[in-house]
Amino acid sequence: MPELPEVETVARGLHKRLAGDRIREVWIGPHKKLLQSPARQMERVLNGALIVAFRRVGKHIVGQLETAEGPAQWVIHLGMTGRCLVYDAAAEMEKHTHLVATMESGCEMRYVDPRRFGKLKVLTRGEFHAAGAEPLGADREKFYERFHRRKTPIKSALLNQTLLTGIGNIYADESLFRAGIRPRRRADRVTRAEYERLYDGIQQVLTEAIAAGGSSVSDYVGAEGERGFFQLQHRVYQRTGEPCLVCGAEIQRVVLGGRSSHYCPHCQR
Ligand SMILES: [Zn+2]
Repeated sequence: MPELPEVETVARGLHKRLAGDRIREVWIGPHKKLLQSPARQMERVLNGALIVAFRRVGKHIVGQLETAEGPAQWVIHLGMTGRCLVYDAAAEMEKHTHLVATMESGCEMRYVDPRRFGKLKVLTRGEFHAAGAEPLGADREKFYERFHRRKTPIKSALLNQTLLTGIGNIYADESLFRAGIRPRRRADRVTRAEYERLYDGIQQVLTEAIAAGGSSVSDYVGAEGERGFFQLQHRVYQRTGEPCLVCGAEIQRVVLGGRSSHYCPHCQR
């Protein structure tokens, strides 16, 4: 599943390729489950729209549009397997392509999603907001306030999208490792100093992953079709039984709320 760094990478890629271009024509496939706005409204807004910018909001990609009827937003959530690709119009259509926006410049932005858990919609008024707080550059104090009274394991709190948006399993495990906190520790028993380290760990992990072009292990491809395959080295994630890169202890795995968590029993308390 694309996590925040992948979404950021895709949004940047789309911005680089498409900002300033205009959608000449949009084609929407028959799978309406992906659409959170009626197909007809999507077509009305997207056809002829000037793409001002693409950016990431939480785990959503937001295209800022200028249409004949005024400003609008195109909101894309990649779900589990969604990809936004920019192709030459002559390129062969991939299976599971659900939307094609043909640009005036001649290229095409295609939304491809085999499992169809993604979401596409347009907004013609108001600003799009994601639930939960943005983790990158979040306010330190608010971060602490949001977490420190919770009675759930800290890992579960990190995955709670209403607290922070966009932190998935990989980045939660990697951030906890950097902070020296075991995933099972209750959030209300994590000390102030540990929260400081956790905050820093999240910033570092996300920043490094974005710099590396996103790091999801499975199905992620950037907007320019390049494989965003892993460059950020996982220190604990999916390294069960392997030696800790810091102390050499065996990385352990524990299941929390149905998700695997990986940690070093020596470095994390
Ligand atoms: Zn260790």
